[in-house]
Amino acid sequence: MYHRTQTRPVKVGNLTIGGSDQVIVQSMTTTKTADVKATVEQIHRLEEAGCQIVRVTVNNMEAAEAIKEIKRNVSIPLVSDIHFDYKLALKAIENGIDKVRINPGNIGKREKVEEVVRACKANGVPIRIGVNAGSLEKHLLEKYGYPTADAMVESALHHISILEELDFHDIIVSLKASNVPLAIEAYQKAAAAFNYPLHLGITEAGTLFAGTVKSAAGLGTLLAQGIGSTMRVSLSADPVEEIKVGRELLKTFGLLSDAATLISCPTCGRIEIDLISIANEIEDYISKVKAPIKVAVLGCAVNGPGEAREADIGIAGARGEGLLFKHGEIARKIPEEKLVDELKKEIDELAEIYART
Ligand code: SF4
Repeated sequence: MYHRTQTRPVKVGNLTIGGSDQVIVQSMTTTKTADVKATVEQIHRLEEAGCQIVRVTVNNMEAAEAIKEIKRNVSIPLVSDIHFDYKLALKAIENGIDKVRINPGNIGKREKVEEVVRACKANGVPIRIGVNAGSLEKHLLEKYGYPTADAMVESALHHISILEELDFHDIIVSLKASNVPLAIEAYQKAAAAFNYPLHLGITEAGTLFAGTVKSAAGLGTLLAQGIGSTMRVSLSADPVEEIKVGRELLKTFGLLSDAATLISCPTCGRIEIDLISIANEIEDYISKVKAPIKVAVLGCAVNGPGEAREADIGIAGARGEGLLFKHGEIARKIPEEKLVDELKKEIDELAEIYART
C-alpha cells in the first residue's frame, strides 16, 4: 500500500497534493458560481477558516465564464466540478482554473478527451477523477451486481488508463461513497493499486452532527493508515463547518501544524465554574490561532493540571480563584472573573512566540 508520503506529487496552483505527509483540506461552494460576488464572499469565509483549495460547480457556460473574475478575487487554488461537458472544462481552463474534476471516461469521443488533456497539459492543470459509488458505470454494476470497492477501483483504473494513454499523469483520484465501510475499503484498495494521490471524502454524509461523525469515522480510519493527501468533509451545512471538521480531524492525527487544540474536561459533580461556556469561548478564540498550541480548560483543580500535562497552557476552575498552569505545573492563581481574559492573554503571547520562531 502506498502511504501518502509515497504518492505522486501533483501541483494544484501554488500547492502540491501528494508526495508528503501533508493533507490538504478543501471544500465546495454552495453559491451559484455565476454569482461572482456571492461565490467570492463565500470563498473568503472558507479561506479564513483554513480552507486550502475550493471547488466550484461549473454546470453551465455562465459558470465557466465566471471563473476568470472569481480567480482575480481569491488566492487559494480553484477547482471546477464538471460532469460530461468537455467545452465547460476547456472554458474553465482558459479562464485560469487550477484543477478540473472530470471523469475522462464520461467525456465522450476520444478527440474531446484529447482536447481537454491537451489544454490541461498546456496550462499545468491536473485532473481529479471522481469515482462515486452512486454513479458507477453500467457495465461495472452488471459485472459486480451492486457498487463494491472492487467495482469502484476498476472504474478509477479505467479513467486513469485513458489519461495515461495520453501520457497525462497529473492525476488525483477520489472514490466516494455514502456508506462508510464501502468508502474505506475502496480507498484502501485504491492505495494498494496505484500511487496517484487520493482525495478522501464520504459523500452525502448528512447534517453537521451525523455527517461529522460519519466523516470522522471514515476519513479518520484512512488518515490513521496513511491514506489520503487531500480531503473534503461533505456536510449539509455551511461549508465553513466542513473546514472546521476537516481541520479538527487533521489535528487529531497530528497532521496540522498551524492550529491550536483545545483539551477540556467533560465536567462532573466537582465542577466549580461554568466550564462548558468557557470551553466554547476558548475554542472559538483559538480557532484563529495559527500555532500548534495546546490549551486546556478544566472544571476544577482536583486532578486538573496533571490531567492536562500535555497542554502548553491551561486553567483549572475554582470558586473565587482559579489556577493557571503551564505544562502541568501551576503558574499562578487568578481571580475567577479574570480567568478567561488571562488565559487569552497567555495564548496570544504563546502564539507570538511561535510566530517569531
Ligand atoms: Fe470533574 Fe474536575 Fe475532572 Fe472536570 S477536571 S471532570 S470537574 S474532576
